[in-house]
Amino acid sequence: MTTRKDWDTYFLDMAYMASTRSRCSRRHVGAVLVQGKKLLGAAYNGAPMGVPDCSEAGCMLVEEYELADQDGAEQVVKKQRCIRTIHAEQNLLLFTDPKDRERSVVYVTDQPCWTCANMLANSGIIEIVYHRPYPKDSDKFKTLMQQKGITFRRLETYEPPVGTVSEVQN
Ligand SMILES: [Zn+2]
Ligand SMILES: [Zn+2]
Repeated sequence: MTTRKDWDTYFLDMAYMASTRSRCSRRHVGAVLVQGKKLLGAAYNGAPMGVPDCSEAGCMLVEEYELADQDGAEQVVKKQRCIRTIHAEQNLLLFTDPKDRERSVVYVTDQPCWTCANMLANSGIIEIVYHRPYPKDSDKFKTLMQQKGITFRRLETYEPPVGTVSEVQN
């Protein structure tokens, strides 16, 4: 007997498959739009079409300071972030039909950043399912989703398909 994948695993697998298209060496993010049990869109983070991407022009890095939990103590740490790419969630919204987003679910490999969370909150979707946490914007994300009545779930025990996660620099 082979075990059949449940829907959450199935669609998050597809988000991870989409993420393998990303050319950014810092972060590979994928997202899919699901209405009912139907896949209506897939996207990953990348530079605008026709413009050199991270693999051609290098990542466009900015440095920022953020609070991070280190062994139970809050510390200010310096982080680098690539701003060359349009985020997967933003590309998903650019390339899907507003009608298709009504009461739909977004499966995304990573917990959305603050900007993406705001855009998703205004997009008609009713649920976000993600795998990897993104501590930086996590509190803001959760508050916003609660205010908007959008369900959000992290699949903690989920394991991405073999070969879909590549080493990225942090
Ligand atoms: Zn990059
Ligand atoms: Zn984002």
